[in-house]
Amino acid sequence: MVEYICSRGSSLRLRELLDTTCRLANTLKKYGIHKGDRVAIYMPVTPLAVAAMLACARIGAIHTVVFAGFSAESLAGRIIDSGCKAVITYNQGVRGGRVVELKKTVDEAVKNCPGVKHVFVAQRTDNKVHMDDRDIPLEEHVFDYQQGDVFGCVADIGWITGHSYVVYGPLCNGGTSVLFESTPLYPDPGRYWETVQRLKINQFYGAPTAIRLLLKYGDKWVKTYDRSSLKTLGSVGEPINHEAWQWFYRVVGDSRCTLVDTWWQTETGGVCIAPRPSEEGAEVIPAMAMRPFFGIVPALMDENGKVIEGNDVSGALCIAQPWPGLARTIYGDDQRFIDAYFKKYPGYYFTGDGAYRSPEGYYQITGRMDDVINISGHRLGTAEIEDAMDEHPAVPETAVVGYPHEIKGEGAFAFIVLKEDTVQTENVKEELKSIVASKIAKYAVPDHVLVVKRLPKTRSGKIMRRVLKKIVTNQSSDLGDITTLDDPIIVAEIVDAYEKYKTEQSASS
Ligand code: AMP
Repeated sequence: MVEYICSRGSSLRLRELLDTTCRLANTLKKYGIHKGDRVAIYMPVTPLAVAAMLACARIGAIHTVVFAGFSAESLAGRIIDSGCKAVITYNQGVRGGRVVELKKTVDEAVKNCPGVKHVFVAQRTDNKVHMDDRDIPLEEHVFDYQQGDVFGCVADIGWITGHSYVVYGPLCNGGTSVLFESTPLYPDPGRYWETVQRLKINQFYGAPTAIRLLLKYGDKWVKTYDRSSLKTLGSVGEPINHEAWQWFYRVVGDSRCTLVDTWWQTETGGVCIAPRPSEEGAEVIPAMAMRPFFGIVPALMDENGKVIEGNDVSGALCIAQPWPGLARTIYGDDQRFIDAYFKKYPGYYFTGDGAYRSPEGYYQITGRMDDVINISGHRLGTAEIEDAMDEHPAVPETAVVGYPHEIKGEGAFAFIVLKEDTVQTENVKEELKSIVASKIAKYAVPDHVLVVKRLPKTRSGKIMRRVLKKIVTNQSSDLGDITTLDDPIIVAEIVDAYEKYKTEQSASS
């Protein structure tokens, strides 16, 4: 058994060294480092520095290893002389008990080295350092997973989140992954948090629909369990409304864990837009996916298929260049794949979602484009109205759909679920209307607010607004394909409530 022994006491078996070398070699190749290119390695004597040398050798690149005590000037001189295309370094080094600012020195050095296209940055200390577009973090991903962490994604493996974040992602990275076979309510609403305590989960990744459901049962189910192992919380699958975000952050994460709203799709294979909080000084804005992941180039399109430039704008969310996780086709139906994703905006991948780009350049997903309604000429994502209404403390869940309106063209029809102990239903409805008027605008106020016991959802927890739309347009006998509905009985419940509501409305008019 041959091992590398480091002075810190850790050791690396040859097998692990080979794995690390191969991963690093692939990363270098992915970022355009080829045979004959020069790469500067500015790292102290560590296993990763050895792997960096071997990775260069493996792909035929030429390494120049620069003593990690040299100044920015000396480093720059060596980079220029050998015409390096990339530098590999650490965020910081530790020498004689002292922290050494390696990345800062590299930043200083490459200011005068236009030939350097990328700086690869590994993590030696827990401190965050400044990163810019040229920098490639070697160990960052969205969840800030560190070796030894327990990653708890509670999605079913029958959905893409389970594929990528229960199976492939954690295992490809040598991580520890939790398999959650149960439901959030069995045997009681503390199930997730009991699992966190028992398995000492560090990253907890779930869906807004489950968070909204648990929120209804109050904080006691969370507080019963020790959640001190948690470092990062993640949300995926739907826009997360502000109330659910705040509860997840404050109650589950005790206001000390980072909460990342991650946007992606089955077709994209992995997370595409997410806050990426591990960068130094990176702010995380509640309920916003924010920053494109490495290699993802989002574009917003207007109604004429033109790219919308600038910030503080909304449009159809497309992705402007391919990336490794992108689906290649629909099995057995290539043409359908082209028609669905590449026809509407030639040269771009169309996601089907709408998004807003904030004045700071951050992305906010506004929901499926089919869920946009046009009230008196104002185009609105239904998620926007839902988000405003969800702020009411008695209302954990809402779903809004458009319906034909004689004067406004389209009006908003809201379905709401109330917390179990709510009594003043009529007051709540009026309060909801005034919240929408003040948060968005008067024109956005739903004309109808109907209380239902549950909302129709797919088995992965997404609200099927299409079904609700059929109901409010009196087409409940033709609901289309509802085989992915979690519990078809809910539809009958809602049709019933809607019919009763209609009868009451016509009696009172
Ligand atoms: P699926 O392919 O079933 O995973 O669904 C992908 C769709 O879910 C996306 O196109 C979005 O409409 C929605 N979605 C996923 N994550 C988010 C998120 N963080 N915020 C808003 N919508 C999301």
